[in-house]
Amino acid sequence: MKKIYYLLIAAILILIVTFFGFRTSVVQNYLIDFDFERQWNNQDKLVTFEGDYIIGLVCGSRGPLPGKGRAEPCIMIKTPDHMFIVDTGDGSRQNLMNWQVDLGNLDAVLFTHLHSDHISDLADYHLYSWVTQNRDGKLPVYGPQGTQRVTEGITRAYELDTEWRTLHHGEDVAPSDIAGFDTKIIDLNSPVIFDDGSLKITAFEVDHFPVDPSLGYRFDYKGRSIVISGDTDYSKNLIEQSKNADLLFHDALSYNMIGRAEEISLDIEPQLSRIFYDIQDYHASPIEAAQAANEANVKELIFYHLIPAPQTFLAKIIFVRGVNEVRPDNWTLADDGTMAILPVNSEDITITNIE
Ligand SMILES: [Zn+2]
Ligand SMILES: [Zn+2]
Repeated sequence: MKKIYYLLIAAILILIVTFFGFRTSVVQNYLIDFDFERQWNNQDKLVTFEGDYIIGLVCGSRGPLPGKGRAEPCIMIKTPDHMFIVDTGDGSRQNLMNWQVDLGNLDAVLFTHLHSDHISDLADYHLYSWVTQNRDGKLPVYGPQGTQRVTEGITRAYELDTEWRTLHHGEDVAPSDIAGFDTKIIDLNSPVIFDDGSLKITAFEVDHFPVDPSLGYRFDYKGRSIVISGDTDYSKNLIEQSKNADLLFHDALSYNMIGRAEEISLDIEPQLSRIFYDIQDYHASPIEAAQAANEANVKELIFYHLIPAPQTFLAKIIFVRGVNEVRPDNWTLADDGTMAILPVNSEDITITNIE
């Protein structure tokens, strides 16, 4: 009995000391230092892999409809020597920061098309690959016709910001000569936009009318291959370009769920209902995406750009309704952080999550 009494007194004393300790600047400063050091010492979660590989990481898994815990479209492609971001959707840069990914190593941003959900974080990618980073030129941005208008517009909108940062921190920290973008408009007559002998990136057209042209990208690296659909309806050209690829990231819109949203909103929000109707004609359903993957003989399929963004276990089941009948295996519904690792000289595809 006495023992319990002493333990109780000790617990109360510890609580009192902790309570008042946290209010002293000495303890608070120690905790601040500890937290900063922890953040800076945390290793980039993408540099911990050994060997030779190509990785596809979902840095944003939803479309423009809101969804807690999901950013707008973004896929990072990484090899030991290169890093590319395909689309810079809202929230994706924050995801990569949370995963300690060093954007100073970013080779280029690739836009599939110029809908807002694919470009909205571009200014942040520019900033976080520029200040204190080792980028040695302006940030290359590849995209379809019209990309120049976007990069020029963002450059103009952020002109004061970049000037002030250089003025405040100096040329060593924020070098003015590499602020801004090196815009490269893709000509589909020369679809190979990058080729260093081991990594080749090929652009191709998909069907997202009236957004024209709208692009997909294929990455080939030492016998492994990843294709990104961008936004598209079921597309014959995508199937052609994805032939025998290891991995396909395909956009997906649940006709089931959006069809019901269209019906329900008809009386309450007719304009919203019109949008739900319209968007069904330029995105593939999960079943169509699975059919495309089968026809292309793709080994693994990851659904991303999910509309609507499924939030619960049940919503995920409804989202992929019917997929198993078309493609019983080798598909994954992406979350933010879903990552596919494809080692060179291997048939393996490991699907995991970065967190
Ligand atoms: Zn989109
Ligand atoms: Zn779009």
